[in-house]
Amino acid sequence: MKILIVNCGSSSIKYKLYDFPRRLQLAKGLIEKIGEKASAVNDHSQGIKVLIKQLLDDKIIDSLTEIYAVGHRVVHGGEYFREPRIINDKVIKKIEIIADLAPLHNPANLAGIMGCRKILPKTKQVAVFDTAFYQSIAEHVYMYAIPQQYYRKYGVRKYGFHGTSHQFVANKVSELLRRPLSKLKLITCHLGNGCSITAINKGKAVDTSMGFTPLEGLMMGTRSGDVDIASIFYIMKKEKLTIEQMDHILNRESGILGISGISNDIRVIKGKARKGNKFAKLALEMFIYRIKKYIGAYFMILGGADAICFTAGVGENNSDIIKGLKKDIYKIASRSTKVFVIPTDEELMIASLTYKVIKK
Ligand code: AMP
Repeated sequence: MKILIVNCGSSSIKYKLYDFPRRLQLAKGLIEKIGEKASAVNDHSQGIKVLIKQLLDDKIIDSLTEIYAVGHRVVHGGEYFREPRIINDKVIKKIEIIADLAPLHNPANLAGIMGCRKILPKTKQVAVFDTAFYQSIAEHVYMYAIPQQYYRKYGVRKYGFHGTSHQFVANKVSELLRRPLSKLKLITCHLGNGCSITAINKGKAVDTSMGFTPLEGLMMGTRSGDVDIASIFYIMKKEKLTIEQMDHILNRESGILGISGISNDIRVIKGKARKGNKFAKLALEMFIYRIKKYIGAYFMILGGADAICFTAGVGENNSDIIKGLKKDIYKIASRSTKVFVIPTDEELMIASLTYKVIKK
């Protein structure tokens, strides 16, 4: 059975086609610059048409009916969605409502869903939510200590992101240890341009470093992570900044880029640090310090860990950083705590979840 996975950004569509239950990847591709001036692709519907044409031209499929299901990555599922869902009008309505919480992501995800419904009207569509994995987090963990009315009126609480990636590597760790997830305490570290760490007990997320938005928690490529909110009010007042300007600074100009003043890419920063650039060195020290802080906290929350796992661009490709972290982990953990580096595959996780839902 062929399952198409669609991951829509505001101006792009990433896709992969799998054969299930073999979990075999048949094709992958990227449609870029959607809606941009010089682009031939005006919107996401047209983008979906282009990707289907690519699959037909490359003879990966002979007809549209071969695609049994489409799995869509949807960034925000709010409190409505605890698990993947077959898409119908009701589900679409709810994703529209939640778009207020993820204005950069959910509208693009929805555009992809609408495009697929138009071009593949008979094909089952499934929405897989980044936030769903975190709906197991307890109330005392997801609430912020601000007046309750803001949670009740606007849903302001911790949601967590990167759920499918954390879920994917947790499953892999269980396979490698040959122990069921239900018997494991895990700390999974997704370190890419965006970074998050999740504490998982018996296969369920108990806490995660990202929050209401992906801005909370670790220091990232261009995001600040945790910061005293009062310092933000102070900067806004001094520099007479609007909310939009400050939002841009915290999400796009901070983190490793903001401290180094050079780049958000760890490869570039390591090169500069080796040559003695003190801001590059500081950025690296801060980045690693925050990771240790969250691992330490989750170690306490879980009461130890059977395994700590690193993944994503930084986690998978920087053995020097991971070696250093491993040394520090063993200062507090017993030797029975295993440390793994596992390449993440969010699309394969979305495909597996899609398969599970349609088989039901
Ligand atoms: P991601 O968001 O998972 O694609 O990760 C992107 C980040 O991973 C980049 O900004 C780099 O800092 C880092 N990265 C990717 N490839 C490598 C590599 N081969 N060596 C070191 N760092 C890498």
